[in-house]
Amino acid sequence: MLSFPTQSVSAGAVQVQGMLDPDDKAWLEGDTRPNGPGVEVAGRISEAGSGRYYFSGSIAGEVTQECGRCLSVCSAAVAAEVHVLFADGAHEDESDPDVFPLVQGRSGSEVDVRRAVREGWLLEVPVVAVCSPECRGLCPTCGTNLNQGPCTCARKPEE
Ligand SMILES: [Zn+2]
Ligand SMILES: [Zn+2]
Repeated sequence: MLSFPTQSVSAGAVQVQGMLDPDDKAWLEGDTRPNGPGVEVAGRISEAGSGRYYFSGSIAGEVTQECGRCLSVCSAAVAAEVHVLFADGAHEDESDPDVFPLVQGRSGSEVDVRRAVREGWLLEVPVVAVCSPECRGLCPTCGTNLNQGPCTCARKPEE
């Protein structure tokens, strides 16, 4: 579960334990989504003053991307800490990008950590993935994957 009624948070800090799956509506077009089963979320939400709630937790998952050097498909573990504030509309800092708004659920306002998990995930996912720090990449002339061996252009001209 990744969404909690503010009433239950006000009654005492709640433990967050859940999974943001790759098909969740929190993901947007163009996001680098996690592999299945998704991003594992663990943490707690506590009240931080009237109408304000603090979520502190860790996220972990795996992502599959194309290596920026050799274009092979590679997977990497992604893990990060997420610390964010949620506030209801009565607060002026609602326009602060680091403060997430509450959402309206069936039983009133709720702290829904999914968008915060998404942002934490996207900040941590590598912009350019590399399959290995030693990746030799592709030959710029013939396109051979140099991890699999040298290509003929690699020979020195005098040979
Ligand atoms: Zn590579
Ligand atoms: Zn070559």
